[in-house]
Amino acid sequence: MVVTRFAPSPTGYLHIGGLRTALLSYLWAKNRGGKFVLRIEDTDKARNSEEATQAILKAFEWLGLEADGEITYQSQRDEIYAKYIKQLLDEGKAYKCYMSKEELTQLRETQMAAKERTMYDGRYHDFTGTPPEGVAPVIRIKSPKTGEILVHDGVKGTISFQAEDILDDFVIARADGAPTYNFVVAIDDHLMGINEVIRGDDHLSNTPKQIVVYEALGFDIPAFYHVPMIHNSNGKKLSKRDGATDVMDYKEMGYTPQALLNFLVRLGWSHGDQEIFSFEEMIELFNPKDINKSASIYNTEKLDWLNSHYIKNTSNAELAELLTPYGVVLTSHDKKEILLDALKERAKTLKELAALVTEIVTTPSEYEAKAVKKAFKDAAFEVLEAYSEKLKANEPHLPTDYHALMEEVVSEMEIGFGKIGMPLRVALLGKMGGPNIDVIMAVVGKEETLLRIAKAIEKNS
Ligand code: GLU
Repeated sequence: MVVTRFAPSPTGYLHIGGLRTALLSYLWAKNRGGKFVLRIEDTDKARNSEEATQAILKAFEWLGLEADGEITYQSQRDEIYAKYIKQLLDEGKAYKCYMSKEELTQLRETQMAAKERTMYDGRYHDFTGTPPEGVAPVIRIKSPKTGEILVHDGVKGTISFQAEDILDDFVIARADGAPTYNFVVAIDDHLMGINEVIRGDDHLSNTPKQIVVYEALGFDIPAFYHVPMIHNSNGKKLSKRDGATDVMDYKEMGYTPQALLNFLVRLGWSHGDQEIFSFEEMIELFNPKDINKSASIYNTEKLDWLNSHYIKNTSNAELAELLTPYGVVLTSHDKKEILLDALKERAKTLKELAALVTEIVTTPSEYEAKAVKKAFKDAAFEVLEAYSEKLKANEPHLPTDYHALMEEVVSEMEIGFGKIGMPLRVALLGKMGGPNIDVIMAVVGKEETLLRIAKAIEKNS
């Protein structure tokens, strides 16, 4: 069974690069009928926060990504790590290194002066003497000194690392006993049964170290897929300014979960030239071997395009629900279908849609000077009065009813349609623009329409 994982370090919000690897890991597990597990890598007590963990979980909830089983917290696994450190020491595969900070600094300076690469020189590798006093040792793993370490990567192919270049018996436990990052990742991936690791290629340089740990402990090495980074349109690594913000900011900005997930799955993966993928389709079609080899480009227009696609194709009942966090309560409005049908093509985001709805359902308190000048001229107020009389004498309900009454005024007063349409629009909205005026009147209803007409006449005459 395929088991994938997402293993964030809770040092801040979840950003979209992280979310993308989480999504790809999730999709692949589900495609294979496997499991997707979550591990919180919270060993760095100074930088981690419970708040950040909660932020990650909240983002997962919003997007409908659910991890299987219990969440693993590295901060609760010290005993497990200690057991493996002891095992490696007992087996002679790791050793205590008593080099003091001063000695390390000195070694580094000497190497730098000689223009050599700075690295630990292995002086405690075979040490059997009496340890120096007053130095708490770190634990180093005995890593291969020659040959190559091969990373078989499902995206990048086989990558060879020269053992001597990168592995200087790296530390697996610090002087205070705290295990180090690459050590615990390998142990946890093994113990959690993870056999396919999909992660950002910024972790590629860690992989040979993790392989050393796997091999020292006799664990099977998982399949790796290192996903190229997301770049901005200038080919630089995505920064906050480009959109590498908190995933929850996308909710705030009015993006739907489907649009964001669809956007992310296409960043670095493709299936022919298909752009729109339902969640089910993503699961069905995703395969990590189709991940692109080169960096992907973040493109806001694409995200907007996808978002408007999903807004257009969401049922009005669901849209009404989705709009509530943006301060618009339409769920029990009897004209929400008419209103949303008229507006959903015009909005790139839920926030924009909420603003459009608000504009219509709120009585205008101001009237745009330019619009007033254009609309409230000649006999405009007489026309508005005539329309009010028609409204009072009838019980219009649908946009067509409001339209029919406009037609009556137009023919009775022998005026063009613009002579009633424009004044009504400005009376109802305080400005030009917006959907059909009959739709607006039907949505706000007869009483509110009468009120807005009276107010517009009063304020502008
Ligand atoms: N904790 C690491 C991070 O947040 C990810 C580790 C991994 O995927 O192996 O960058």
